[in-house]
Amino acid sequence: MENLMEKIVSLAKRRGFIFPSSEIYGGFGSCYDFGPLGVEMKNNIKKSWWKEMTGNHENIVGLDAAILMSPQVWQASGHLTAGFADELVECKKCHHRFRKDFLKENKCSDCGGELTEPKKFNLMMKTFVGSLEDEAVTTYLRAETCQGIYLNFLNVLNSMRLKIPFGIAQIGKAFRNEITPGNFIYRTREFEQMEMQWFCHPKEADKFFDYWKKERMQWYLNLGIKKENLRMVEVSAKERAHYAKRQVDIEYRFPFGWHEIEGVHNRGDWDLSNHSKYSGKNLKYEDYYPYIIETSVGADRSFLTFLVAAFHEVKGGRTKTTEAKKEVEVLLKLHRELAPVKVAVLPLIKNKPELVKKAKEVYQMLKPYFTCQYDELGSIGRRYRRQDEIGTLWTITTDFDTLKYDTVTVRNRDTMSQERVKISDLVKVIDKKLRE
Ligand code: ATP
Repeated sequence: MENLMEKIVSLAKRRGFIFPSSEIYGGFGSCYDFGPLGVEMKNNIKKSWWKEMTGNHENIVGLDAAILMSPQVWQASGHLTAGFADELVECKKCHHRFRKDFLKENKCSDCGGELTEPKKFNLMMKTFVGSLEDEAVTTYLRAETCQGIYLNFLNVLNSMRLKIPFGIAQIGKAFRNEITPGNFIYRTREFEQMEMQWFCHPKEADKFFDYWKKERMQWYLNLGIKKENLRMVEVSAKERAHYAKRQVDIEYRFPFGWHEIEGVHNRGDWDLSNHSKYSGKNLKYEDYYPYIIETSVGADRSFLTFLVAAFHEVKGGRTKTTEAKKEVEVLLKLHRELAPVKVAVLPLIKNKPELVKKAKEVYQMLKPYFTCQYDELGSIGRRYRRQDEIGTLWTITTDFDTLKYDTVTVRNRDTMSQERVKISDLVKVIDKKLRE
């Protein structure tokens, strides 16, 4: 299973999905950069989530708040106190550090050495704002995006003339000084969150909590994640986040075990009442503090989920052309909404100028509508394989019939079946397939 992760990490780098940050300097603190295909796919994930929240549901509006906020925010939210600290232990022998709750035994998991007493370690990242060092304000990079939503509760409510219940959705960067980042992009120190905060009457909080956990589960299923690889775990009072009255984790079966990908929380009136107290502003709606149901997922963590779920190795090869036949072929079965490249255009052979010319024309025609690649290097079988490996949905080939009838073949990634389509119908046909 570790081997599977290595293959995925290697594919991600080789094909331009994810690179280690600052690689020429030896990498940096488990940070990652999204390459040309990675940024397309991550944008697709964010687009799909945004559409799901603000398009497929009633009464949800968007927000993009600043990363930097007043340091008082983090006082009020409880993040600067023990509430947002993990317990850190260090091995007395090899000095490796661990999050205590991640260790199965009371011994170092690397060398079996004795561990120090646990110390609380705050995860907030400090920064300084202002040009004069001695006058600079110390604040923190946000550890969760939702605080910006709570601070704008009244602004949104009033400017949009909303009534409770309603929701605010936001996507943005968050930072946590994780003790043990790892498992590729599963746990990093800089990541993106997609969070929706649903403001409702306290009496309706349980109803909406159940509603949202089902809705969120369905999003993964709609995007092709198999039911048997997903589960919901209700988190006990002892293990819940400091603000949560109820918490359900949606977990995915990764090659390295079952792990959380999204949290659905009933935050009660923790946030609005504390911000009222600290700011002196009345954040009540009518005469009560709304309860907040939060759905919170990492864009990077769900990226890894979709990548792992899509990764297939086909033993014996799928392509039947002799020169392309290979022991194992990789097929990335990404959902059509998420695939970074929708179509590729290939001339059947490179040394027929008419076919190359036609292929380039088709490529230019499709490019404004769909993320599109052009490839003329290598045998046709090898080029199909290269597209399968990055999850390209349809591969279009210009061949000799193209010159006679102005048609091309459109090959389906998953079935490898081909159909002939008139060039003039291509945009319409692909567009329709994308919506099916
Ligand atoms: P964990 O227990 O894994 O540290 P958490 O319970 O602290 O996570 P939340 O605060 O509920 O996580 O954050 C909500 C979501 O944000 C998580 O489900 C995850 O998808 C994402 N997330 C949180 N921390 C990280 C991180 N360090 N790297 C990547 N994504 C993260």
